[in-house]
Amino acid sequence: MTPHPFKQVPAVYHRQLGDVLVTGLSDGYMDMGYEIFRDIPEDEVRAILAREHRIAPPRISINVFALRFGGKTYLVDCGSQHFMGPTCGRLMDNLAAAGITAGSVDGVILTHVHPDHSNGLTDVATGQPIFPNAEVIVHQAEIDHWYDDAAMARATERQRLRYFQWGREQLDPYRAADKVRTFRDGEILPGIIAIPCPGHTPGHCSYVVSSGRQSMIVWGDTVHVPEIQLARPEVAMQFDTDPERGVRSRQRILDMVIADDLLVAGMHVHFPGFGHMRGENGRYSIVAEQWAYTA
Ligand SMILES: [Zn+2]
Repeated sequence: MTPHPFKQVPAVYHRQLGDVLVTGLSDGYMDMGYEIFRDIPEDEVRAILAREHRIAPPRISINVFALRFGGKTYLVDCGSQHFMGPTCGRLMDNLAAAGITAGSVDGVILTHVHPDHSNGLTDVATGQPIFPNAEVIVHQAEIDHWYDDAAMARATERQRLRYFQWGREQLDPYRAADKVRTFRDGEILPGIIAIPCPGHTPGHCSYVVSSGRQSMIVWGDTVHVPEIQLARPEVAMQFDTDPERGVRSRQRILDMVIADDLLVAGMHVHFPGFGHMRGENGRYSIVAEQWAYTA
């Protein structure tokens, strides 16, 4: 008897936003430990994950979003290749399934420079850009910080390797080719506005994408584990550069999403990563978007 096939179909999800074809693409997932959180007892994390029927310790989706409009293709973040282990690095297969070749990508918009978001830029074995025709669009504070030798010297050994060294290796070929475009805030591309939300990293950004009467926010790492940080927005992560500032930014983004009723696309919201927020008395939750039936 042949076993039932159980390989999933490619982790690719399309939804139209006005004239923009938005595609959620999985790069895989990371299984984390309870120690990733600050300021919350492990028992409480266990209780929340059990109540929400989630895997514990937490399993974190890693999503990339493609934006196709006006004959151009942009990625928001780009996965991590082999750097984060065998459960990650699936972006290129999923891009192929979505009909996107590396050479057709016009730009990679980074929410921030951290390995699960930016280590898909460069093949370090050859030093060649993986997206040869793309510019990298990133907040100036990310470049200032990750290329700051004094900040690197103050960091732990693990941070020096994974954040500073890897970040530089990934960005260097694009910088050498003058293909890194930085900004402080405002419109970075037609219909795409950067919303700086520093704290997780110094130049961490969300992006509001608008087309016609529709808008959504690609909110980067506003939450890493949605069940925990929406129920308890004051919970910071061990890998936040400035935890208190990160908490304030998260609160501001969550309030903005509710006030403007924005569709959310989250890098660490469970795949495919789209949802709508509910909020009451400072406690929030996200409702997964209803499946978008496309032709
Ligand atoms: Zn992340």
